[in-house]
Amino acid sequence: MTREYHYDLVIVGGGPAGSSVAYEASKNGIKVALLEKEETIAQSVRTSGVTWIQNIKEFGIPDDCYNPIKNYSFCSPNNEVTIRDTIPQAAVLDVRKTYRWLAEQAKNEGAEIFLKTNINNVIKNKDGDVIGVSGTSKEGEVIFHSKVIVDASGFSSTVSRAMGFVTQWERFGAGAEYEVKAENVDQETWWLMVGQKYSPAGYAWIFPVGKNIVRIGVGVGKPESQVDPTERLKELMDSKIGPISKLGKITPIEFHYGLIPNDGLSRKTVYNNLILVGDSAGQANPLVLEGIRYAIKFGRVAGKIASNAIKSGKTDETALYPYEEKWKKDIQAKIKSAGKVQDRWIGLSDEEWDNELDIIKELKPEEFLDFIKADFGLASMIKLATHHPKLAVRQLFNLVKSKNKIEK
Ligand SMILES: Cc1cc2nc3c(=O)[nH]c(=O)nc-3n(C[C@H](O)[C@H](O)[C@H](O)COP(=O)(O)OP(=O)(O)OC[C@H]3O[C@@H](n4cnc5c(N)ncnc54)[C@H](O)[C@@H]3O)c2cc1C
Repeated sequence: MTREYHYDLVIVGGGPAGSSVAYEASKNGIKVALLEKEETIAQSVRTSGVTWIQNIKEFGIPDDCYNPIKNYSFCSPNNEVTIRDTIPQAAVLDVRKTYRWLAEQAKNEGAEIFLKTNINNVIKNKDGDVIGVSGTSKEGEVIFHSKVIVDASGFSSTVSRAMGFVTQWERFGAGAEYEVKAENVDQETWWLMVGQKYSPAGYAWIFPVGKNIVRIGVGVGKPESQVDPTERLKELMDSKIGPISKLGKITPIEFHYGLIPNDGLSRKTVYNNLILVGDSAGQANPLVLEGIRYAIKFGRVAGKIASNAIKSGKTDETALYPYEEKWKKDIQAKIKSAGKVQDRWIGLSDEEWDNELDIIKELKPEEFLDFIKADFGLASMIKLATHHPKLAVRQLFNLVKSKNKIEK
């Protein structure tokens, strides 16, 4: 027998985006269901979990959820640079702890969380607008009726695909990673490794999680490269090249694998009764393919706008549009600029990467961080593009500055 439920807001996907929508919408006093297909929140880890302390503080994520990073090392086949800061500004999250904390926040505000609930279809009204979702749970077939649905299902974009609004992402990153125990770990320093042997069309990384644990991973851009990131990761760990050799003895603890969209901000993200958020909306910084902070930030915006729309009794595309307007205003121009840098980086030969690191060496920590975070503000970009003492740096920032209007 099919079980049927009725909610004001149903969110498909209990990742950082879904939990953040659920938190904000429940806080605003409506009846919310958060549906997650796995047995627990963050049962599978599909991310390396790098983010920024400023955002962590803004979201209120507890201090025991992350390892702070203050030094940023890069290596290419024949070059190496470490940018040292005086205070940590980046962080590597304990992904399970953080994602569970986010879900707990939503639950504390009254959201109901349904685990082991795999959504695979949509219910439509006579006009073709979504008014519910269906799937399977431990109880059998389930239907959730809702005034607004949020697609927070990540890369798979389950709801939007079932509606026929989107197809599979054409350009995306595929990443494989081992969380390992290592003999020698500098907890405050991350490594990004670039060049053909690490990853054609991508990069490899070492991200310290705390104590003697690090995440070693490889990301590969698709369709640019056919390389399988899992195979390449095993090769790098077996041959222990570059900074991996400094880790000493390595004992794998857990394997992570995931896909992240890299099609720019190509999708429409509001329809009648439907919002897309996080990876399903393609909200990721293409430079290092990071999306957690956007998933949380715009998840909260979506939760607020959807719950206000539900309270007002008007949930069509026009009523939900302020969400799209808000996130686009915040990041669209920055993401476009970051895309240009990514296009340049994807085409670099090993020798050109060696030279690129010489440019990166000239950056101060705050310049480097703004750059890698795609936090391009007009004033700072113009300053760097016109006044930086090194010509190569000026050229790099001119690339960012040119053509696009950049936000203040
Ligand atoms: C290898 C890799 C490394 C990354 N590293 C970083 C990084 O260091 N820093 C960073 O900021 N970002 C990183 N990202 C990106 C980041 O993980 C995503 O941007 C972020 O997870 C997006 O959050 P989300 O909630 O939109 O989606 P997800 O985190 O993917 O969550 C989606 C949730 O929906 C559930 N779900 C899916 N389908 C259904 C369904 N049909 N029914 C019910 N539930 C469903 C899933 O089980 C999952 O829990 C990385 C991505 C990859 C692939």
